[in-house]
Amino acid sequence: MMDTTSRIFVAGHRGLVGSAIVRRLQSEGYGNLLLAGRDCLDLRDNTAVDRWFATERPDYVFLAAAKVGGILANDTYPAEFLNDNLRIQSNVIDSAWRHGARKLEFLGSSCIYPRFAPQPIREDSLLTGPLEPTNEWYAIAKIAGIKMAQAYRKQYGFSAISLMPTNLYGPGDNFDLAGSHVLPALMRKFHEARLAGSPEVTVWGTGTPRREFLHVDDLAEAAVFLMRTYDSPEIVNVGTGSDVTIAELASMVARAVGYGGRIVYDSSKPDGTPRKLLDVSRLHSLGWKASIELEQGIASTYRWYLTRR
Ligand code: GDP
Repeated sequence: MMDTTSRIFVAGHRGLVGSAIVRRLQSEGYGNLLLAGRDCLDLRDNTAVDRWFATERPDYVFLAAAKVGGILANDTYPAEFLNDNLRIQSNVIDSAWRHGARKLEFLGSSCIYPRFAPQPIREDSLLTGPLEPTNEWYAIAKIAGIKMAQAYRKQYGFSAISLMPTNLYGPGDNFDLAGSHVLPALMRKFHEARLAGSPEVTVWGTGTPRREFLHVDDLAEAAVFLMRTYDSPEIVNVGTGSDVTIAELASMVARAVGYGGRIVYDSSKPDGTPRKLLDVSRLHSLGWKASIELEQGIASTYRWYLTRR
């Protein structure tokens, strides 16, 4: 059982998810965290990863390292989204098992599910239909990660579990407009428009797609909870159970930022999948529920955004 002296490796600890998991572990008193930044360990490099695990020998591994990005980045860099992610997860899962880790938690994504999966999406929708084309490269890599975790459990008895978080946001997010997801992109656009006094802000797509947003601190709480309590090959969705349209999200973010101008839609930009709401009944039955309301999470993320600039 993971305790405060366990050697815990958070792969990807500088990212949105990894940094939130580190904060959560520290707040719960876990003091033996092993961290390795990109500058000292390239997770795509099999030899380097194996050497690192041989030396550091973590007991527990949170695999939160990945090449991630919004709809445009996914569509622009398909080779990197597929290849980097396959390499990172294969290296980390294999080395963790090879060097005696007790348990590994793989963080996937809700984009692994088919484009037309019945909503809300249950875990058993995996591999029942074609993927959303704008992020299929990332999705294929993540599906391979789930299968690798299951294969290592089946063949070697390795205790590997997989979580599928919905769209995440919060402190530490990427606010670069070419690479970011919608929530940080809108926050930055409305913020800059307010400062510049611009009469309108352009939102991509039609505003009609529906998305579910989970604050990364909620995800981190669930990730630590499931590392402690869950041990089964079945994947677990992690979300809030409710969604909003992109137009509703835009109004909420504009309100939080204090932007009063017009919101216009550029339908030449892709909408992506029409809806992506996770069924979170498995998670609820395991004893965990999200607690940060979207409105409140956007407000606190905006406060963080202002202090970081
Ligand atoms: P997705 O959930 O994988 O589709 O990723 P995104 O968060 O990038 O996009 C979600 C939805 O928000 C899509 O319908 C986008 O077209 C829409 N959207 C609206 N404005 C923006 C923007 O400025 N940036 C991004 N990334 N998406 C936007």
